[in-house]
Amino acid sequence: MKPKKISERSAQNIKYLLERKNVKNLNLRIRKDGSVYVSASPRVPLAQIDDFVSRHSAYIQQAQQRLTDLARRCKETKQYSKDECLAVFNQLLTELYPRIKPYGAALPGLRVRKMTSRWGSCQTVKGIITLNTHLLATPQICIEYVIMHELCHLLQPNHSQQFYALLTKLMPDWPERKQLLNQTHIALN
Ligand SMILES: [Zn+2]
Repeated sequence: MKPKKISERSAQNIKYLLERKNVKNLNLRIRKDGSVYVSASPRVPLAQIDDFVSRHSAYIQQAQQRLTDLARRCKETKQYSKDECLAVFNQLLTELYPRIKPYGAALPGLRVRKMTSRWGSCQTVKGIITLNTHLLATPQICIEYVIMHELCHLLQPNHSQQFYALLTKLMPDWPERKQLLNQTHIALN
């Protein structure tokens, strides 16, 4: 029998799952359900991993709290009307558009729709951005991220290297925003 690669551990009252695999050093992730997952290279000693988790305990607890808040908010969330969505999304679009305007993008049209598999989409040729009405239940920084992402598609239709270079230039902290969005408990239905 192969030794189990995933083990349950705890450090400073924080339970976490440890997986040994070929990563550079170690990575810490808070999963959607609030559980803490650490992947670490077999070379990193256990004491060092426990210490790493301990040192990040404040961050972990904050993230878990945020997930709990988010889950509660989503339960309370009724369906938003298209008008409610358009009001908020248009405001954010107006605030974000000036960032990309100097690169030659025309102000796009905005549509909202209930979608099941994506947060937004962009019709590059027509210049129309469509956003998911469910997005309104997510934190504002996530809505901004999706809008910025779709705005970049006006100039870069595909997820090319140039697309990500542009997105990073216009919104350097987009990966954290995306991660938070991925942690939301909103059922897309
Ligand atoms: Zn995209």
